[in-house]
Amino acid sequence: MGNLKTYREMLESEIKEVVGCTEPASVAFAFARAVKIFNDKSSRGQMLSDFKAEVTVSRDVFRNISTVRVPVVKLKGIEPAASCGIYTKAAGFNPFEKSGIESRVDKAESINRAEKNVIGASGDEYFYDKLVLAIGSNPIIPPVKGIELDNIFSVKKDFLYLSDMVNKLKDARNILILGGGFIGVEFADELISSGKNKNIYLVEMADQILSSSFDDEFASMARDILEKKGVKIMTGVKVSEFRGGKSVEKAILSDGSIVAVDAVVCGIGGVPNTELAGKAGIDMGRGKGIWTDEYMRTSDPSIFAVGDCAGKRDFFTRKDAPVMLASVAAAEARIAGANLYELRAIRQIHGTIGAFSTYVGGLVLGSAGLTEKAAKKGNFNVVTGQAEVTDKHPGKMPGCSTIKMKLIFSKSSGIILGGQVAGNFLAGEIVNIIGMAIEKHFTATELETFQMATHPYLTPPPTKYHLVIAAQDALKKLQSV
Ligand SMILES: Cc1cc2nc3c(=O)[nH]c(=O)nc-3n(C[C@H](O)[C@H](O)[C@H](O)COP(=O)(O)OP(=O)(O)OC[C@H]3O[C@@H](n4cnc5c(N)ncnc54)[C@H](O)[C@@H]3O)c2cc1C
Repeated sequence: MGNLKTYREMLESEIKEVVGCTEPASVAFAFARAVKIFNDKSSRGQMLSDFKAEVTVSRDVFRNISTVRVPVVKLKGIEPAASCGIYTKAAGFNPFEKSGIESRVDKAESINRAEKNVIGASGDEYFYDKLVLAIGSNPIIPPVKGIELDNIFSVKKDFLYLSDMVNKLKDARNILILGGGFIGVEFADELISSGKNKNIYLVEMADQILSSSFDDEFASMARDILEKKGVKIMTGVKVSEFRGGKSVEKAILSDGSIVAVDAVVCGIGGVPNTELAGKAGIDMGRGKGIWTDEYMRTSDPSIFAVGDCAGKRDFFTRKDAPVMLASVAAAEARIAGANLYELRAIRQIHGTIGAFSTYVGGLVLGSAGLTEKAAKKGNFNVVTGQAEVTDKHPGKMPGCSTIKMKLIFSKSSGIILGGQVAGNFLAGEIVNIIGMAIEKHFTATELETFQMATHPYLTPPPTKYHLVIAAQDALKKLQSV
């Protein structure tokens, strides 16, 4: 656990991790790589070396995050494709060049589907055969009286805005964070760790923090850590008003309490950026993002949408899923890239699993698929399996710590619906195994008998492997499977 950099350390060196903003570049590369691999066979071999560039590129890209851009993706040897919303460095060095991508800095103002072109704010026209919209999301601004006061921030992916916010937060003594999802929780953890005698208030309207991704036994681990560090967590309440002169001074909560504040950070989620597509008459589905099919095509077969701007359906319930993750965006970009000119039937998205991890005060928490609570709400009859094992073996090995896991299965089929894990940095990868098991519809029996690598320094023992123990625990309850 000690090996992980805190967000504060990252803030001091590179701001990019604070907002997850290496992602747009990753999305661009995931898309470009897929287009190149699947549509320009002669350049297949070059893609591996391009991969190296991604790290460097995404750093540079983040430093120029404040401008909206429209690069024109023109891959050598194939028809041009335009992609809105991919960052590039504003001047000089062009990180996409190596991949044969021409980039332009501009804001897409409108899409003319009849002419197949995009009009930029500069007045330039970008013609396309295929257009990929990757224009992201905007933070939700709560409709609360006084929200326009100074020192109330949302987490915009805008470098200058974020730099200013970080500076102001450094000086603020009383900070209220609105929203107990992973953004709010990570902000609270970092701000309380900054060692500057700050009062940090975390306000969440649900009964528990992190409750959309974790069942209570996992969410409460994060809560305990934050409360021990001094964060004042208020759940089951909303902010009804902000008051102050020019800057915010007080937050009035729905239970009548008043909190003195110097700054507020709103981390209550995002809304898909659909304006451009909406104006062009592209189908918005049920209004939760641009509608796409399994190949990421919008209602216009020449236009694809990926990432936060595209609507998501839950993998199991098929209901709208408000998942906005870079990992999902990159997977969608790969799917769009592969199917751009020809449907390949093999690369499709069948729903969003929503695998993610967070890091709170030295504890990694990961979640994939449905929580027990969400599964029951979605009308599944479930059984759960639990495991608590050491991360090395034997358990007396120096530096050993505990990994806690919960898996959720459908009672009638034994198929895994979700899982949660808590522990050291390994948990950040274990949750990805759970995500893959969900995507492949593993049963408890298959998980119990799967073959894994074990090593005394690196993993739990083969006899007490977390996934196996949790699956066995569930199997005892499943009996009939
Ligand atoms: C604080 C924070 C932390 C996060 N941490 C994680 C994490 O740890 N793991 C994870 O998986 N996800 C994380 N995310 C989510 C992740 O950042 C997003 O899901 C991801 O960036 C989505 O990528 P995208 O390309 O769809 O959209 P974005 O990253 O939002 O990029 C869209 C781009 O399009 C540009 N654009 C918009 N309109 C136009 C236009 N008209 N013309 C031209 N350009 C336009 C925007 O300026 C922007 O540059 C985090 C998000 C936040 C806010």
